Amino acid sequence: MALSGIQIYKLLPQTNCKECGFPTCLAFAMKLAAKQVELSACPYVTEESIALLAESSAPPIRLVSLKSDGYETKAGNEVVLFRHEKTFYNKPGLFVKVVDTESPEAIKAKISAADRYVVNYVGIELTVDGFAIEAASGDPEKFSAAVKLAREASKRPLILVSRDPSIISAGLKALEAGESALIHGADKSNWEVMAALAQEHKAALAVISTDLETSADLTEKIRGKGVEDLAIDPDTTGLGAMLTFNTIARRMALKKNFKPLGFPIIVFPKDLVAATQAISKYAGFVVIDDFKPDEVYPLLVLRQNIYTDPQKPIQVQPGVYEINNPNSEAPVLVTTNFSITYFSVANEVEGSGLPAWLMVCDAEGMSVLTAWAAGKFDAERIAKSVKGSDLASKVSPKRVVLPGHVAVLSGELEEELPGWDVRVGPREAVDIPKFLKEAL
Ligand code: SF4
Repeated sequence: MALSGIQIYKLLPQTNCKECGFPTCLAFAMKLAAKQVELSACPYVTEESIALLAESSAPPIRLVSLKSDGYETKAGNEVVLFRHEKTFYNKPGLFVKVVDTESPEAIKAKISAADRYVVNYVGIELTVDGFAIEAASGDPEKFSAAVKLAREASKRPLILVSRDPSIISAGLKALEAGESALIHGADKSNWEVMAALAQEHKAALAVISTDLETSADLTEKIRGKGVEDLAIDPDTTGLGAMLTFNTIARRMALKKNFKPLGFPIIVFPKDLVAATQAISKYAGFVVIDDFKPDEVYPLLVLRQNIYTDPQKPIQVQPGVYEINNPNSEAPVLVTTNFSITYFSVANEVEGSGLPAWLMVCDAEGMSVLTAWAAGKFDAERIAKSVKGSDLASKVSPKRVVLPGHVAVLSGELEEELPGWDVRVGPREAVDIPKFLKEAL
């Protein structure tokens, strides 16, 4: 049962020392009750209070971590229903499925291709997180061989998919020492044996049921056997049913602190639309049937955008970037250090094949118009960035190009940068190549 802020306050030291970052113990207690801080932020809680507060301070969605050699995929630990309320913490793991009836060559080729796949999105490298091995053969030996093949092709975490404990047991034995996989899964008929396997091999366990009551009943029974790292599977590919299950489970866990459903959700979407929905609402593990780069790319980007903290813009390092080997005659283009803005401009300049110096000003990670409106991208700041660089000694003629959206700054910038020819560039990055070719 969750404790109220006042109940939590009574268990805190009540010294108001502020070391937790809050002015009073009561303020900290209120945040703790709202699941917005970790109990560990207070270094003075007694062991006795920690035990009493454990239930209340535990995240409403349990953190489940799948580990393998050098890789870790985490799901759970979420505290809000909507990203704008705070942030989402752990991106749903994207897993690619292989089936043990495929040929060894096909299994290795599929896993190797997915394992190598990297998307560079605004300076962040995005990859798939692991692989799900499904036992369609019904043969423990074949399944074990498929797991070994997967391990030869990739070190990323694995999900072992079968409801037959003897097959799962064979797969678990084929794993490398020290890794923790996810077993998929347990149902009403096999949960006791699956729980024992999960405990023996330190694996997480997914429970499978179309109805929430059965899911909750199974997680409680399995927890009673000592297995805490669980996931729940809505066992449906229907968009409506999946959305309903996921939303109710998440609401019950977050709003009612209903522990039996407070676990990451695993889904097996059958197409791109279902995968998109799963990432948006509220999957912790998403297993896709095929590895197709043109489908994986939008899923990775969508996931990245949803799981980026809206309060922390993605930034690039301010400074001067050289594009296409600029010489002294190349112009100086100015932009902000918001990552998407930077990459939009840099990609267009690079694609034009024309040389330029790109002066990236520190605008606290905001885009051009937002930064200008917030007073973080004005003539004074731009001039300071230019003067703080060695561009004046590198270029001749001294030409600086403002983004078209802040043309209003040109007069002021001329005053701030005497001797520089201030030009106004296009409003949109896509028009930069034409501008470089025709207007300079
Ligand atoms: S660190 Fe602990 S004792 Fe100090 S103010 Fe915060 S909650 Fe109170």
